[in-house]
Amino acid sequence: MALLTQAPKGTQDLLPEQTAHWQTVEQVIREEAALFGFGEIRTPVFEHTELFQRSVGETTDVVQKEMYTFEDKGGRSITLRPEGTAGAVRALLEHAMYNDGLPVKLYYFTSCYRYEKPQAGRLREFHQFGIEVFGPASPSADADVICMVNSLYNRLQIKNFSLQINSIGCPECRAKYHQALKEYFAGSVDKLCDTCKGRLDRNPMRILDCKNPPCGEVAKNAPVVLDYLCNDCHDHFEEVKSYLDLAGLSYQINPTIVRGLDYYTRTVFEFVSNEIGSQGTLCGGGRYDGLVQEMGGKPLPACGCAMGLERLMMVMQNQGIELPEPSKCELFIASIGNQAQKKAFLLARQMQERSVFALFDTCDRSLKAQMKYADKIGAAFTLVLGEDELASGRAQLKNMKTGEKTEISLSEEEFASQFLTASTDSLPSL
Ligand code: ATP
Ligand code: MG
Repeated sequence: MALLTQAPKGTQDLLPEQTAHWQTVEQVIREEAALFGFGEIRTPVFEHTELFQRSVGETTDVVQKEMYTFEDKGGRSITLRPEGTAGAVRALLEHAMYNDGLPVKLYYFTSCYRYEKPQAGRLREFHQFGIEVFGPASPSADADVICMVNSLYNRLQIKNFSLQINSIGCPECRAKYHQALKEYFAGSVDKLCDTCKGRLDRNPMRILDCKNPPCGEVAKNAPVVLDYLCNDCHDHFEEVKSYLDLAGLSYQINPTIVRGLDYYTRTVFEFVSNEIGSQGTLCGGGRYDGLVQEMGGKPLPACGCAMGLERLMMVMQNQGIELPEPSKCELFIASIGNQAQKKAFLLARQMQERSVFALFDTCDRSLKAQMKYADKIGAAFTLVLGEDELASGRAQLKNMKTGEKTEISLSEEEFASQFLTASTDSLPSL
């Protein structure tokens, strides 16, 4: 039979074995985020389109080419979020979260949607973990964000990644830099793609982030933003570096990092792996001091970053980082006949209430098939219920590893405690 349809291009299903790994990693991330004082925020999957147009920026690839935008039945223009910061800033303002004291430190796990060319590490629906810090202007906050990511990667035992940093200045130095870029690119307009031709006037820095090889070629010898920083931005960058030195982090200064979103100011950074092909940016972030005001709030400095979870899982898999096995079934209750199945159902419920991973047969299989299944799922203990067991109120609990059998009472009062005693006794002593 032909399948009705398949998952849309650029999306993927996570099956239980993979989700178990994701959950483990997510748990480590949540713990790390808590250690650094972040609280979780959950915002809608879709927002009004103008939110992203304004924050991510009209001349970015994300807004110009990649957004999933549609009109809803009420005629509003709606967009599936392409990233997490815009929604977090909107929520910060809508709930005046800054009134509860600064800094406001938020983290999120979100699905994101971008109409891109799917390839390894690049999907149309992908997932991000991100953090945002609102309030501090101090370079120590930039360094704190970077250190959190570094500390998380260490905890996850990820190796061979590099930290690359840059500063793209403030609107004041940016104006001078834009002028220099315009002059530089003016001589090679013909070689630029159509999108970049349009960017030349409005936002020439975006050309540096273009993924078209000819544009990249032209951009190779473009002026470097670090040479245009004003004194304050220069000092800020020096301080960020001194905090990173203090923390013992090694980093490279990469003047070509401009980031794909317009809201960044001053510090920008990426954590990069060269082990997962060309989509090697594990995490990107930086400072965005103008964004809150741009969204209609009072000026409020901020910084943050986001990492792609699919790429994170790819790196961990490539490096053979072992994740704990999902927990295995502790008790499988096989049954013969309808009455025994009802008893098995009840005993399983009773054990689950006591936090024991217990299963019974729901497929009406033969006893032989049930035992084969118990073996396949690695059940630690099995119990077989038939007419005799129901009549006597007793059954044989079998330890599947040792083959040892223990008689156990099927009475409601005794079963659970006898099972727990038998299973604890059989644990290897430490
Ligand atoms: P790239 O240069 O790889 O396109 P980006 O600059 O567009 O990345 P950000 O918007 O900063 O990425 O998003 C942060 C992180 O989210 C990236 O570093 C990456 O790990 C992940 N990411 C971005 N786009 C995708 C995608 N289409 N599929 C999977 N992960 C992605
Ligand atoms: Mg991108």
